[in-house]
Amino acid sequence: MNIQANIKEVLSTLPEGVRLVAVSKFHPNEAIEEAYAAGQRIFGESHVQEMTKKHETLPADIEWHFIGHLQTNKVKYMAPYVAMIHAVDSYRLLAEIDRQAAKAGRTIPCLLQIHIAQEETKFGFTFDECRQMLQEGEWRKLSNVRLAGLMGMASNVDDDEQIKREFCSLSNFFREVKREFFADAEGFKEISMGMSHDYPLAIQAGSTLVRVGSKIFGERIY
Ligand SMILES: *Cc1c(COP(=O)(O)O)cnc(C)c1O
Repeated sequence: MNIQANIKEVLSTLPEGVRLVAVSKFHPNEAIEEAYAAGQRIFGESHVQEMTKKHETLPADIEWHFIGHLQTNKVKYMAPYVAMIHAVDSYRLLAEIDRQAAKAGRTIPCLLQIHIAQEETKFGFTFDECRQMLQEGEWRKLSNVRLAGLMGMASNVDDDEQIKREFCSLSNFFREVKREFFADAEGFKEISMGMSHDYPLAIQAGSTLVRVGSKIFGERIY
């Protein structure tokens, strides 16, 4: 695996305005150091303990993005340093992030995870649940989180048309929510979608943050 070459190849395909989150979960520090040497600074992890250990041992200018399902009792471990939390799927979790961010003296950018896939096992708000949560407005009182956009995962299928439809549904929903709730919020601008096998489709549909793992680092061993 030539990680530096892979990073450069992926970066060369990204249009302006689309950023790469290099998903380094289950890969050792050495792999991240190679990507770092190629200039990559944003890394995505999905396990709190693993990310915290990497944060403690790798260069301080790395931006750690938490992309996995997050339990409320784990927020406190990442609040002092995490750069963005991608998969906020309940108001309760958002409120806990706010509480821990306040303790750490920080404001943490968060993305709301929206369920766009056909599969039932994926986490996330439905469109209606998300509208309702935003409508209720409690989130406006949370001053230590900043809602920065939406995140979603397409179904894990070979049908490009279905994947495209799902990504477009997220882009359309982003525009709706932006208009209704965040028209004046410059910071609400991210659509985190696209992984190794489908990120070109996600970019066509308006992604601003692609989360690419195995195409850069090779297959993970679970
Ligand atoms: C693991 C993971 C990725 C990266 O997946 P690849 O197929 O390896 O690119 C992206 N997003 C989330 C939420 C993940 O858990």
